[in-house]
Amino acid sequence: MGDRGRAEYLSSQGIRDGRVLEAISRLTRADFVSEAERLEAGADVPLPIGHGQTISQPYVVALMTEALALKGHERVLEIGTGSGYQTAVLSLLCREVYTVEIVPELARSARWRLLRLGFENIYFRQGDGTEGWPEQAPFDAILVTAAPAEVPSTLLGQLHRGGWMVIPVGPTGGTQELLRIHRAREPGALPQVESLLPVRFVPMTGGPPRPVLP
Ligand code: SAH
Repeated sequence: MGDRGRAEYLSSQGIRDGRVLEAISRLTRADFVSEAERLEAGADVPLPIGHGQTISQPYVVALMTEALALKGHERVLEIGTGSGYQTAVLSLLCREVYTVEIVPELARSARWRLLRLGFENIYFRQGDGTEGWPEQAPFDAILVTAAPAEVPSTLLGQLHRGGWMVIPVGPTGGTQELLRIHRAREPGALPQVESLLPVRFVPMTGGPPRPVLP
């Protein structure tokens, strides 16, 4: 059973893509959180999912998904599987989702949960998402749900020319900007960057080793 009333709410908040609204109303958000959080799963708020991580607010999930303008044929890379809720939304809207999670316990429980719910077009990897998934690149779209300080160039390189990436970027603990990046079709042309919303995501961990200051 889906979350009744959520589509109406999200459409009143400005979400227009009917396929996104339908996908979200087919899912039950309570299936993606622990027992303790279940009563609050209907509200438009982020919720803890353990290991200091959170499942995003449904409005933000809807906005990020809508920004990718998926038609159904795409192969999508997602960084930050978390609970798997955003992964499930994507899986209803594209051909295949490749999702990467750095925390082993979260990767394992999301995989188990999504398989149990019957999703068959999702591929899972546990590891550092700043490296993307080179063996499966390029992707038609990339969605990142943890915030790095800057756009990882490796990820941009794994995006098809003409493809979209949606990513929160900014300092840890501060306000980040949710960016939509369009990789130009012409080789050498700079990507177009558009700011969608101020957001607060958990920081992206991993990345290249930082130099140790003396
Ligand atoms: N989309 C998730 C919410 C994710 S919270 C949902 O719907 O539930 C962000 C997630 O990104 C967390 O699970 C965190 O562990 C993960 N993460 C942080 N840095 C990462 C990295 N470098 N690679 C992969 N996953 C990362």
